[in-house]
Amino acid sequence: FVALSETLLQELRAIVGDDHFVIDDSGLSTLSKDFYWYSPVLRDRLEDRLAAAAVRVTTIDQLRAVVALAATARVPLTMRGAATGNYGQSVPLYGGLIVDLSGMDRIIDLSEGVVTAEPGARLATIENQARPLGWELRCYPSTWVKSTIAGFVSGGSGGIGSISHGGLREPGTIKRFKIMTIEEEPRILTLDETETMRVFHAYGTNGIIVEVQLRLAPAYPWQQLVIASTNWDPLLDFAAEIAGDATVRKRLVSVMENPIGSFFKPIKKFYPADHHLIFFEVDESSADAVAARAEAAGLSVPHRIPYHYPRKPPMLSDYTWNHTTLWALKADPAWTYLQSGFGANYREQFQLLHAKFPGEILFHLEFTRGNPKMGGASPTVACGGIPLVHFKSEERLKEIIEYCTSIGVFTANPHTCYIEEGGRDQGYDVQLELKHEADPHNLLNPGKMKQAPTPRFAVPGSMPHFLFS
Ligand code: FAD
Repeated sequence: FVALSETLLQELRAIVGDDHFVIDDSGLSTLSKDFYWYSPVLRDRLEDRLAAAAVRVTTIDQLRAVVALAATARVPLTMRGAATGNYGQSVPLYGGLIVDLSGMDRIIDLSEGVVTAEPGARLATIENQARPLGWELRCYPSTWVKSTIAGFVSGGSGGIGSISHGGLREPGTIKRFKIMTIEEEPRILTLDETETMRVFHAYGTNGIIVEVQLRLAPAYPWQQLVIASTNWDPLLDFAAEIAGDATVRKRLVSVMENPIGSFFKPIKKFYPADHHLIFFEVDESSADAVAARAEAAGLSVPHRIPYHYPRKPPMLSDYTWNHTTLWALKADPAWTYLQSGFGANYREQFQLLHAKFPGEILFHLEFTRGNPKMGGASPTVACGGIPLVHFKSEERLKEIIEYCTSIGVFTANPHTCYIEEGGRDQGYDVQLELKHEADPHNLLNPGKMKQAPTPRFAVPGSMPHFLFS
C-alpha cells in the first residue's frame, strides 16, 4: 500500500492537530473499514486494506490544506463520513490517507424547504432541526442517526420516505453540490441541479463534496403500525394496496417474510411469533382507516406506536432497509443479502425463487415510489427489497443472481466495491468526465471507478476480483 513520507505526516499533523491525527495500527484499522463485512465476498477481499494515516478535518481550510499536500505528494485520498457504507466504499484499496469529514458538520441554512449543509452533517440532526420548522427529509437511510449527508449522496440510494418521494436520484431532491478538486491548488466547483448526477453515488471518486443542498418535504406526524398474518399472499396484497393508494400518506411500507420477525429481538414481543409482517409508517390521520382495512382483509394489527416528537425507540424503521440484514446477521452470521427490483409479476417471481432455492432466500421487501421508465409492481409503485440469502458459496451466490436476471429480477449487486459492477446505471461517462476535471492525478478513492485510468501506484494483480469481475 502507498506509504506517506515522515515529512508529509508531520505536515498533516500540524494542520489538524494531534487529536485529529491517527497513525497507530488499531486506529487505522478502525478507520479503514466500513460495513463491507455484510458481504462474505467483500469480507474476504477487503479485510487487509489499510490506510497509512488518517486525519479528521473540521473546517474547509483544513481540508484544502490537506488536499493540497496530498495532491502535491500524489497520495491516494479516501473520504469518510460515518463509514456505514456497505460495499467497502470507504475502504482504501491502495492505502494512503483517510480524510474523516464527520467534523465538518454545520447546517449552513435550513429554510423554505431546503437544507444546505457541510458534508459531515448527520441526517438525524437535519431531520430534528427541520421538523419543528414544518419540514422533513424526503428520504433517509435506516442508518440516519449516524450517517452523514455527503456519505448518503455519495454512497446511498434511498430509504424511509422513498415510498412517497422516490430515492435520492429522483429529480428535484438533490438541489446542488459544491465539490473540492484534488489539485495542488484545490478549487471549488458548483454543480447545479442539472449536474448533480455527475457526483451522486460516485463513492467519492470524482470530487470531495464540501456542501450539499437537498430539498425537503412537508413534515407529517407518522404513526407506526405492525400488521401480521400467517398467510403470505393476503399480507403482500395489502402492502401493495396501501403502497399504491394515493389517499394514504406514508413514509414506510416494509414487508418481512416469516421468520425474519424473529430476528428483531428488541421488538418481537410486540407481534405474534411465526407471522409474516408489514411495518408501516402512515400519517396519523390515516392510521385508524389503515388498521381497519387490515382487519377487514383478515390480517391482525398487533402493535401501533403513536407519533411522538422527538422520536424515541422503538422505531420500526430500525428494523427495515439494510437494518433487516444487520438483525439477521446477528441471529445467524450465515445470512447475507441481495438488492433486488421486482417486476409487475413479482408474486410469480417470488414463487420461482422459492422453488429454485428452497430455504435459501427470505423475502424482505421495500415498496417505493414507482418509476414508469424502470418498470416495477405498477406505474406508481416499485416493489424492491433486500432479500436475505443464506450464504453457501460464492458460486451459489452468483447462480442466484444469474437466475434472478433470467426471470427479470434486477439485482444491484452488493458484493463488489466497484461502482460499475453495482448495477445502477447512472451515467458513468459523465462521472468519468468529472473525474478527469476534478481529480486529474487520479488520487480520490482510487480503484473503485473501474473505467478511470489505472492509478500510477497500482501493482498489477493487486485489485480484488468479485463475482462478476
Ligand atoms: P460513508 O460510508 O462514510 O461513505 C460512503 C461513500 O461516500 C464512501 O465512498 C466515501 O468515500 C464517500 N464520501 C463520504 N463523504 C464524502 C464527501 N464529503 N465527498 C465525497 N465522497 C464522500 N443506504 C441507503 O441508501 N439506504 C438505507 O436504508 C441504508 N440502510 C443501511 C443500514 C445499515 C445497517 C447499514 C450498515 C448501511 C445502510 N445503508 C443504507 C448504507 C449507508 O448507511 C448509507 O448509504 C449512509 O447514508 C452512508 O453514509 P455515511 O456517512 O456512513 O457514508
